Amino acid sequence: CGIVGYVGSRPALQIVLDGLRRLEYRGYDSAGIAVIDHSVILTEKKAGKLANLEKALADRAGDGIAVGPTAIGHTRWATHGGPTDRNAHPHVSADGRVAVIHNGIIENFGRLRAELEATGVEFVSDTDTECAAHLLAAEMRALRESGAEDGPQLLAEGMRRTVRRLEGAFTLLAVDVQVPDAVVAARRNSPLVVGRGDGENFLASDVSAFIEHTREAVELGQDQVVLITPAGIEITDFTGAPATGKEFHIDWDA
Ligand code: GLU
Repeated sequence: CGIVGYVGSRPALQIVLDGLRRLEYRGYDSAGIAVIDHSVILTEKKAGKLANLEKALADRAGDGIAVGPTAIGHTRWATHGGPTDRNAHPHVSADGRVAVIHNGIIENFGRLRAELEATGVEFVSDTDTECAAHLLAAEMRALRESGAEDGPQLLAEGMRRTVRRLEGAFTLLAVDVQVPDAVVAARRNSPLVVGRGDGENFLASDVSAFIEHTREAVELGQDQVVLITPAGIEITDFTGAPATGKEFHIDWDA
């Protein structure tokens, strides 16, 4: 029920956890994070309160999980699949390439799941969301096979191809293990705002997640995809045509 993303030069994990805490008022039953660090996606997810997630992270402090500069975080309000550790987000693709978090409901997940299973993908959760992770990885693989280079643009195009296949309501964020400094996001019938920083950028379902870091925000329009890197923000529609969100300044006190 809450979504936060960060790219920049500060340790991303703490910024994302603080953001999730500021979204706690929305209610949730599980929480999880993914951090990209030196070509590894580190994930941790737990049913229950953020404190459970933080305890699990503290137990893994030796993994270096706290230092990567790119992270996404999620608080879940379960709609498909019970509130368990396994069903908590992020969901990582079977090839280990991407991690995805999602608020909303993917209505056609049953069909997509059957299609992916027919290609040999094994699902490890009961969520509607997991199909988006495998689909994104498959679209990126197809793009690479047709000659596209790894990088933020491959991730963004993979996301556009993925969301064109989804029905329902979604705010989706994804990170790619081969792209250390980008987060891609998409929205349909579910909220998403970008926070513009200086050499860092934020994504969230609600500005309260990043208001202590920046007051310059961009509200994404319906059916838009945004790629954030430390250097900037790039918005397109689902076909890849350049688009703009609604720029605004947050002038109220958090
Ligand atoms: N439908 C997804 C799930 O049940 C996302 C729920 C949410 O919005 O947190 O996992």
